[in-house]
Amino acid sequence: MAGNIRNFVIIAHVDHGKSTLADRFLELTGAVEKRHMKEQFLDQMDLEREKGITIKLQPIRLRYAFGGKEYQLNLIDTPGHADFSYEVSRSLAAVEGAILLVDATKGVQAQTLANLKLAKEEGLAIIPVINKIDLASARVEEVTQSFVDLLKIDESEILRISAKTGQNVENVLQAVIARTPAAKEEVDKSLRALVFDSHFDSFKGVVAYVRVQEGSVRVNDDLFLKASRERGVAKEVGHFSPKEVSDGELKAGQIGYIATGLKEPGMVRIGDTITLAQTAEVEPLQGYAPSKPVVFMSFYPQNPQDFDALKDAISKLKLNDPSFEYEPESHEALGRGFRCGFLGVLHSEIISERLQREYAISLVISRPSVEFKVTDLKGREMSIKTAAAWPQGHQIQSVKEPWVWLEIVTPTSYFSQVVQLLAQLEGQQLDTTNLGVHALSLMYETPLREIVIDFYDKLKSATQGMASMDYQIIDWRPANLVKLEILIAGKKEEAFSQIISREKAFREGKAITEKLKELLPAQQFAVPIQAVADGKIIARETMRAQRRDVTAPLYGGDVTRKRKLLEKQKKGKKELAEKGRVNIPSKVFLDVFRS
Ligand code: GDP
Ligand code: MG
Repeated sequence: MAGNIRNFVIIAHVDHGKSTLADRFLELTGAVEKRHMKEQFLDQMDLEREKGITIKLQPIRLRYAFGGKEYQLNLIDTPGHADFSYEVSRSLAAVEGAILLVDATKGVQAQTLANLKLAKEEGLAIIPVINKIDLASARVEEVTQSFVDLLKIDESEILRISAKTGQNVENVLQAVIARTPAAKEEVDKSLRALVFDSHFDSFKGVVAYVRVQEGSVRVNDDLFLKASRERGVAKEVGHFSPKEVSDGELKAGQIGYIATGLKEPGMVRIGDTITLAQTAEVEPLQGYAPSKPVVFMSFYPQNPQDFDALKDAISKLKLNDPSFEYEPESHEALGRGFRCGFLGVLHSEIISERLQREYAISLVISRPSVEFKVTDLKGREMSIKTAAAWPQGHQIQSVKEPWVWLEIVTPTSYFSQVVQLLAQLEGQQLDTTNLGVHALSLMYETPLREIVIDFYDKLKSATQGMASMDYQIIDWRPANLVKLEILIAGKKEEAFSQIISREKAFREGKAITEKLKELLPAQQFAVPIQAVADGKIIARETMRAQRRDVTAPLYGGDVTRKRKLLEKQKKGKKELAEKGRVNIPSKVFLDVFRS
């Protein structure tokens, strides 16, 4: 039946109820058997369930009968955290409509606006929905007004629901059908399917998640990928329920998957167009703009022998998350690893956890850093992403760094703990608003650098996990920064270098040298540990030599022999000290980066 396919996404700020609304849709349409139903069903990854957030977009096909017609509804649930907006933008290009969901107790928030802008750019039909009307603190009238202003629509177009109780949820499905343009079903054209996601399956090879724009594809068809110029065979074709269900064919207008049989992760690119071998010359669809990483860190395998396993794992994970970048890097003490770029702090955390869990690789993870724009004396601007690349102090004319709007939502009872934490950041408070009676939203502006390391952990522990944060980069501002270097036995250990504010250099230098003194294994000679900034030593600790009594096995009075041994030991120590090599176990890096 033509005209009965609707493809849509749910977009919203984190926690506004997307996954819960999707649950109700699954129940209403009987997509998931009651006994298999669990809350936030579409959050399939363990990590998503633990953290209570959606990380991955998740497509699912629903059937729904309405007005005497049977509809096929393809829904994509998307993450709401700013770090995963790339997942959202990719989903938007695969659909014609978007449910814009706003929590009635919180109102329109930063991420709501960002997602709305993206949806408008894609020309999607927008279905405004106010959620959580069952709560006493719901501010329905106020949120309605902001929708009216924002979307220039009539009040009557706004749906008011409770995704939790199911109140009015069926009206939302009906509004999707009525207001989202039916997907065009141009099956007679050559196949053009947009790859919006993918994952690796050891049996099926790379599985591409596609929106078929035109034509159709059947199992065993010969495939051609436009951008990578690879050829494959459709091993399996089907839809999501949300598990992959093989049904042999996908047609124009539908969303589903094609198992390509290709075994190299890099062969299938997100944003590529899949067509058939015989129509290889067809024009590709418009792909996606590449993502722009803002937080950088290095991953090394704790066991250097795991390098190949890490390489393999990273390339497979990249397939499932095209928004992070990586390039090989090597380090004297840590061996071979990768320098990686991420869309944000949470993103980097998720990727490192997925690597360790899904691929069972233990990692040494460097301290996260951000990008700096450094202008040298000749006026040339350089992008610096590692402390190692930082130019010498006297060559720097000026430095700029990214600033963010940081939004923290906290229960009112933790207000003072949050304020105390914020007071430690460079930057300033912009605004505080009440979210109902029990919660507050605090807006702050601060350098991104200040929140990349452990701010999120601190916030969680200060509020017993109750507060949440979100941020977005606003602009680049001048910064007064310095490179802090650590010398161990006179030798610079670049892995410990970091770029920090000049003000904090002294305290941080002292903290690291003390920490290293405690962590480094004792040597046979005294080891100076120094922190240097701007060519000056700002902190120093000395690890005392470990005394080993070489004469112990000799008892009795052989004084000459004793003296000889002691002489020998002294000489050995001196040589060692001159060579000045202290072997730093990778565990020490791990501990320092973590602290
Ligand atoms: P997402 O981050 O947008 O996917 O949000 P979730 O669906 O994970 O929901 C976030 C939280 O809000 C969960 O604790 C839900 O149980 C709760 N929630 C969602 N919808 C409603 C609603 O209509 N009423 C109430 N009271 N709670 C809701
Ligand atoms: Mg969710």
